[in-house]
Amino acid sequence: MSVFIKAYRFALDPTPTQEAALRSHCGGQRYAFNWGLAQVKVNLDQRAAEKSYGIPDVQVTPAVSWSAYSLRKAWNQAKHEVAPWWSENSKEAYASGLANLATALTNWQSSRTNSRRGPKARFPKFKGKRARSSCRFTTGAFGLTDDRRHVRLPRIGEVRAHESTRKLVRHLQRGTARIRSATVSHQSGRWFCAFSVEITRIDQVSRFPDRVVGVDLGVKSLAVLSTGQVVPNPRHFDVARRDLRRLQRQAARRIGPDKRTGQAPSNRWRRTQARIARLHGRVSNARRDGLHKLTTDLVRRFGVIVLENLNVSGMLRNRRLASHISGVGMSELRRQTTYKTAWNGVQLVVANRWYPSSKTCSDCGAVKAKLPLRVRVYNCDECGFVLDRDLNAARNLASLVGEDIGGTSAASCAGTKTSPLETHVRPTSCGQRVTPREDPR
Ligand SMILES: [Zn+2]
Repeated sequence: MSVFIKAYRFALDPTPTQEAALRSHCGGQRYAFNWGLAQVKVNLDQRAAEKSYGIPDVQVTPAVSWSAYSLRKAWNQAKHEVAPWWSENSKEAYASGLANLATALTNWQSSRTNSRRGPKARFPKFKGKRARSSCRFTTGAFGLTDDRRHVRLPRIGEVRAHESTRKLVRHLQRGTARIRSATVSHQSGRWFCAFSVEITRIDQVSRFPDRVVGVDLGVKSLAVLSTGQVVPNPRHFDVARRDLRRLQRQAARRIGPDKRTGQAPSNRWRRTQARIARLHGRVSNARRDGLHKLTTDLVRRFGVIVLENLNVSGMLRNRRLASHISGVGMSELRRQTTYKTAWNGVQLVVANRWYPSSKTCSDCGAVKAKLPLRVRVYNCDECGFVLDRDLNAARNLASLVGEDIGGTSAASCAGTKTSPLETHVRPTSCGQRVTPREDPR
């Protein structure tokens, strides 16, 4: 048995009253965040000023604690004064804003003392009305209704879900799921509710442990498999891309904001920007949907999946659209395959970042020094072998484990510097927790 944390996200169709309540809760969350931030800021500024006057450390105003607990305690004392309307929303709204603030401040603090990896976290900013807002419920009566069409939220009531909630309801009825929290948010014109769910399930075993597949993300198609199968782009994807280019040309003709001259953007420019944002959402939804279908299909049909490792910073330096788009898809493909292979008992193999999967001949193993991106067909100089570029790369990836998969374990060569295999992730048993990121859109 293993326990996974899984996110289930449902688009909502709230009534006008419910929508007002949802907006009010998100507003309450924002208000509490800004209130707490103001308290912390005043305190920090006061202490800095006192220190600059040369007041000895013992007499300086004590620092306020910014743990979520203390912030909540301070809020509960002050709320009657600063927010007499507080009882209109669930107390969870304010608690979630203060918890977000506590996290932001902790990130800033640890970033300052260099005890945090990743990009530098800045000091939190006040949230404006247009900031993307959300509200998280961790206690109270949230969940799903048995009719499989509604989401239950504290204070807001039963909100109609846009799609059926069947999958999660079944888990709940079987007793294999426990909902930990519910987060409502508003994104590109639509309300969503994301449940963070603890799923307990029996360890799965792949039906075809010996079947190996190499996957290379295509430029014209979504992906190319080493079996020769070309996975086409999802429907409407290319149309949406074309529309996007047209709108971007349109925006360029309209008057945008200019910081130097103080020029305000025209209404027509704003309208185009709104359309661009919606279309961007549609393009990335289509792409993610295609990747989900691809990765689910892969873990069902194969026992070992080989991906190449992505050099993200190198990709981003290359401003060419094709490589950028396949780069974006690559990290999403990697993310989805990582958790889906773990859930389904499939082995995931990631090639070394420097392994030249595109430049190597999949027939004789010769390596080309250079292969520009525009060259779509691999033509071997040594043996005269000719093959589609992406298919050649996919075959090379598959052959990385091809020899090892029989008797000896491929894991033995992982970790050595000369090995083309970077990581060899075997499905592990008991107690493994895989937390997929909640989809940002
Ligand atoms: Zn060759």
